[in-house]
Amino acid sequence: PRLVSPEPEPEDFDSEASLRPKTLEEYIGQDKAKENLKIYLQAAKMRGEPLDHLLLYGPPGLGKTTLACIVAHEMGVQIRITSGPAIEKPGDLAALLTNLQEGDVLFIDEIHRLSRQVEEVLYPALEDYALDIMIGKGPSAQSIRINLPRFTLVGATTRAGQITSPLRDRFGVLLKLELYSPQELAKIIRRSASILNVPCEEGGALEMAKCSRGTPRVANRLLKRARDFAAVLGDGVIDESIAREALQRMGIDDTGLDEMDRGLLRAIIEMYGGGPVGLETIAAALGEEAVTLEDVCEPYLMQLGYLTRTPRGRCVTRYAYEHLGMKAPGTAEA
Ligand code: ADP
Repeated sequence: PRLVSPEPEPEDFDSEASLRPKTLEEYIGQDKAKENLKIYLQAAKMRGEPLDHLLLYGPPGLGKTTLACIVAHEMGVQIRITSGPAIEKPGDLAALLTNLQEGDVLFIDEIHRLSRQVEEVLYPALEDYALDIMIGKGPSAQSIRINLPRFTLVGATTRAGQITSPLRDRFGVLLKLELYSPQELAKIIRRSASILNVPCEEGGALEMAKCSRGTPRVANRLLKRARDFAAVLGDGVIDESIAREALQRMGIDDTGLDEMDRGLLRAIIEMYGGGPVGLETIAAALGEEAVTLEDVCEPYLMQLGYLTRTPRGRCVTRYAYEHLGMKAPGTAEA
């Protein structure tokens, strides 16, 4: 497994629950989304109604599940967590919906992966809190309507463009999560360190934060690894030099790129003259899935300014050449 992958790994599960902030107050960063959400929550509470259906979008590991749990906590209701691929048949969704209590939050991760048939069951549920069920077959078939408790759907997707417009239109609130700044990630790391009882200095936290690709899940994972290096190579405290040594031993460079990122950039440079080249072509050349490259490598490489997306394909920038210590075409010999 890739250490800096923003996708959850099995080893994350034991700690993710304990490291998850429970309230909006504890949730670090995402100020814009948080400010708006605070108002929506307050207004819903004043009206004594469930919160409007909420769509969260942004790369994996940025805190979408966490935010859904916070919504439930702040509204004082239960949350049910599921995902698009887990809801295979319309009946699976019907079972979930009929088991909700008034006001509950239903969280559907990867909501863009719902099947067409399941999505169609969801529309009346979202709009009218109702379920239309067909009884019988052939000419005698008839549709009956079952009322559902009022609930809040929180959907999560890595890109808002992936979900169908009829589904998107049924969400009252769309919130976009952004990659976190190193300062915000350092705060998250220090908060996690204190929960895990690991002494972590400001300098150490910032070193790890700079290599966390804007992603809290990665930050927490680097912290847990650095804890091992600090225990074995040092006195247990994660200071700046232990953090740096740990990162270096993990193959992560000073901007947070690992072998896979560098491999992607190098492939574009060495095989395709720096681009433009189509994503599918690079993926085939590297033996990776195109979606992995797109969701996991590219957002961060683009944020660093190493990669651009053009209508004709991906291009690396001269900053990528510089970072890899390679000579960009058209630049003078040093
Ligand atoms: P997503 O659902 O977007 O993939 P999660 O909500 O599972 O991401 O977040 C991954 C981990 O990152 C959580 O376990 C949590 O500890 C941490 N995390 C996410 N966002 C924040 C935040 N704003 N403040 C502190 N920790 C966070």
